[in-house]
Amino acid sequence: MRVVFVGPPGAGKGTQAKLICEEWGIPQISTGDMLREAKAKGTLPQDLVEKMSKGGLVPDDVVIGLIRARTELDDAKPGFLLDGFPRTVPQAEALNELLASRGQQLNVVVALEVPQDLLMERAVLRRTDKRTGQIYHLKYKPPPPDADLEHRADDREETVRHRIDVYEKMTADLLPFYGNAGLLKRVDGVGDVKEVTRRVLAVVKAAK
Ligand code: ADP
Ligand code: ADP
Repeated sequence: MRVVFVGPPGAGKGTQAKLICEEWGIPQISTGDMLREAKAKGTLPQDLVEKMSKGGLVPDDVVIGLIRARTELDDAKPGFLLDGFPRTVPQAEALNELLASRGQQLNVVVALEVPQDLLMERAVLRRTDKRTGQIYHLKYKPPPPDADLEHRADDREETVRHRIDVYEKMTADLLPFYGNAGLLKRVDGVGDVKEVTRRVLAVVKAAK
């Protein structure tokens, strides 16, 4: 099973990806998480650290390289869920070539849809536990008292606004690209987490 999650910042991609990957036993591959790990280790070049913290995209060849290496690992052989990649048509084309060279293809692209006002509230009040990677929300999924919380540098209001704009500009062509390929399934991301999981699982199962 090879699944792609597309959606604006704060749509719930990471939350749903974790739940679905647990249920299906496939790895969640998030370019955002990989870039943040590299940043924490000090191995991400400074110009990319700045691009990320301002809410811009890092260059296509950087994320394509990360995906090429990560999808080659053994645990990704039975399938994987890509969360936050591809974000541009050149990334999607590179992914197609990469998969074709291995005799593989995508099963489905899930687009999580959430209106702008909710996105802002979801992203600005998002907190993650540094030790476990668990995603919390100060209003909708309050963290336990012993969580070691982190507020992402790019989750401030102005930066989230910019990231939503970047998403709309850079990713606008991606949805028709996958629509034309017959892979795109739109899922309403508004509602409680379990309800959204049910909707996502329904479209993913139908694509199997
Ligand atoms: P993304 O990976 O798309 O940026 P996340 O999964 O990190 O989104 O979710 C953004 C924030 O919204 C997090 O704080 C998360 O706890 C919260 N969230 C996710 N799904 C829902 C939902 N269905 N209802 C309310 N809050 C949600
Ligand atoms: P969100 O979950 O809020 O949508 P991510 O964690 O996926 O955000 O991404 C955080 C940041 O990492 C992005 O704003 C961008 O700077 C960088 N990034 C992640 N994935 C990509 C990608 N596929 N292409 C370019 N930049 C990316």
